Parts: sequence; C-alpha cells; structure tokens
Amino acid sequence: MKTYHYGDTEQLSPHFRALEFQCKCSARHEFQLDEKLVELLEKLYTALDCTAINVSSGFRCLSHDKAVGGSGTGQHIHGKAADICCIGQDGQPIDSRQVCIAAQDVGFTGIARINATYTHVDVRDGKWYGDETKGSSFCIPCSDFREYFGTGKEAEPMQKGIDISYCQKKIDWSKVDAGFVIIRAGYGRYTSQKDSMFESHYAGAKKRGIPVGAYWYSYAKTPEEARREADACLDVLAGKQFEYPIYYDVEEKDQLALGKDKLSAIIRAFLERVEAAGYFVGLYGSYSSLTSLTDEDIRKYYAIWLAHWNVDKSPYSGAYGMWQYKVGAAPGVTGDCDLDYCYVDYPSRIKAKGLNGFGKQDDQPQKDPEPAVDSITVEMTVNGKKYTGTLKAT
Ligand SMILES: [Zn+2]
Ligand SMILES: [Zn+2]
Repeated sequence: MKTYHYGDTEQLSPHFRALEFQCKCSARHEFQLDEKLVELLEKLYTALDCTAINVSSGFRCLSHDKAVGGSGTGQHIHGKAADICCIGQDGQPIDSRQVCIAAQDVGFTGIARINATYTHVDVRDGKWYGDETKGSSFCIPCSDFREYFGTGKEAEPMQKGIDISYCQKKIDWSKVDAGFVIIRAGYGRYTSQKDSMFESHYAGAKKRGIPVGAYWYSYAKTPEEARREADACLDVLAGKQFEYPIYYDVEEKDQLALGKDKLSAIIRAFLERVEAAGYFVGLYGSYSSLTSLTDEDIRKYYAIWLAHWNVDKSPYSGAYGMWQYKVGAAPGVTGDCDLDYCYVDYPSRIKAKGLNGFGKQDDQPQKDPEPAVDSITVEMTVNGKKYTGTLKAT
C-alpha cells in the first residue's frame, strides 16, 4: 500500500499512472493505492487485448464514497478497488460479462458486473463475486463467472422469502408477500419435538399458494444421533409437499466444537438418510461453520443455505442457493423474522424429479395416520449424571 499526492503523474505500470486512481471529490487530497490492484489491472489489459482501461473510480475518501452511494466500508476507501471500462481493439467498450470472466482468470478476488460495460474489481482478502445489475449486493450463485454467464438460468429467478418457526406465533397470511417460506419442522431425535407452529405455518402458506421448504434443528453429537434426527424429521414431513429443500440446521456450540471431521460425518448421516427417503436436501450454516467446519464434498453436493447477517456481500467463496441475510420485518408477520434470498429455481427442480412428496400420484404410497403422541422420552444431566425417563400425557 502506497500513498500518493493529488495529481501525481507517476507511471505505475505500462498502462496506468497514479493520478488515474485519485479521489474524484473536490478536496484534492492524497490517496492510497494497493500495488496489487495495478499489477492485476495490467494483466487484465493483456488478457482482454485492450487499447485502454478507463478507471471511472479508484480511491474514494469516506465522504466521496458515501456521496456516490457506497457504504463507507467497501474496498474503494482502502485503495484496493477500481471501477473500470475496458476498451477493445475496435475502440468499443468490452462487454462487462467478458471482463468479469477475465478478471476472475487473472486473480481479482472481488469482482462485480456494474452494468453492460462497467465492472468493479478489487484485491480484497477473501472473495466476492457479484452482479449489480441484479441488485447492489447480489452475489452470483456459483463461484465461477463462466458458469454463471454461460448458463444464465440459475441466476435469473431471484426470490425473496422468509423463514419462520414457533417464534412467529401470529401471522396474517393474507398480508404475507414472501416468494417462499422455509418452516422449522422440529428439532432433535423425537417426532414429538415437532415445531409447535409447523402445522399452522404449513397450512397457512399452502392456503395462499406460497411455496414451502422446511428445516430440522440439530442437537446430534454422533452420526447415529443424526440418523435418529433424520427419522424424526421424516416422520414429521410425511404426507406433505415441499417446493423448496429440506435443510439440516447445525449450529449448536457443542456440535461446532467437535471439529470438521466429526461435524461433517454428522451432517452426511442426516442428509444421506433424508435424501434416500426421496427429499431434496440441503445444509444451513453460518459463514464460519461452512468455511472452516464443513467438508468440501458436502458444500459442493448439497444445497447450501448460507446464514450471514448484516453484510452487503458475504465473502463466502462456495456456491450457495439461498442466503439468510438478516432478521427484520416482513409483511403479515408480527415481530421480526429471518429474511432470505433464493438464487435457484428449486420448485422446478424438485417437481421435475418427483421429490419432496411430488412423486407421481399413482405410485404415491398410502401414508399411515400419524400415531397420537401420548408419551415422550426425556434425557437430562444433573451434576454430571445422566437421567432418562418417560413423561406420559395426562
Ligand atoms: Zn475525496
Ligand atoms: Zn467499485
């Protein structure tokens, strides 16, 4: 990182001079610039066979960043970012999709398509790929611009939804405008631990025709316990239809403390069993647990529901289909609930495969009526000693 004075004409590389990156505000102040940014821009120049790269915005002081709509926390204020327009051999701007792909190839860690011809690039720690034509914090649903622009399909439908549980007791379904609803089905190893609002939420959403998914909150400490959780979850889901995945919610402190290998084995045990029963399954996790406590094969194979609150853009580098981005107000819901974005057309995929209860009508197995719960098994530990017993309904 170097500091330059306003108007510094120093030639930093064959095609870039310092003053091209100075702040565009009227204060004519000094500015910082990360050498790595210039080095990669030079590589990009070559990769795209440019005749020029115009820097519309480089370093920004705090007030200028805010004035142009930045958050004041982005890479521009650190001298690590540039918004650029690349000019080709024909003298015309190069399509920003091509620029994103080339920027990825030369190693920029932060890249976003701004519009048809402008692209944001930066050299942040971590990684973020976005598409601002889909919203200022839209994260592409895969880790490869080539794949993203190549197929296009996955990125198109951007649904906004909510996830709810026993915490949301009062919902006026006539006012709910969510594109989908993910409902807590229950927790732990017993069918009796069905979420107290699951039936009511499910019925409310279905009545409005809002697509539904579900999640199961885990306490499992071993794969065997995870399989018992899967069985309980399957009992609760039976006979219903879900347009969105069934997620395994693993976030308990003492589970995370088990470490990556044990935690990954627990996750696999649950997801494999629920998947084998005909469900489209996924994993819910925080940025940190997904990044450092979940094996790569799980993150690649299963639908990921990333929890990362109150950030403009999550630095999570893997692919994810859903993002729980904050807790807030939603129409029809009394009190706050979790808010989510979805980047994948799960309903089409799930129905096409006949999963989640959408199997062909004629080979749908007849479901037994759910047995009434008249007793539950309870385990507790007092002063290090474990107690088990049965509570009977009165
Ligand atoms: Zn300034
Ligand atoms: Zn920018």
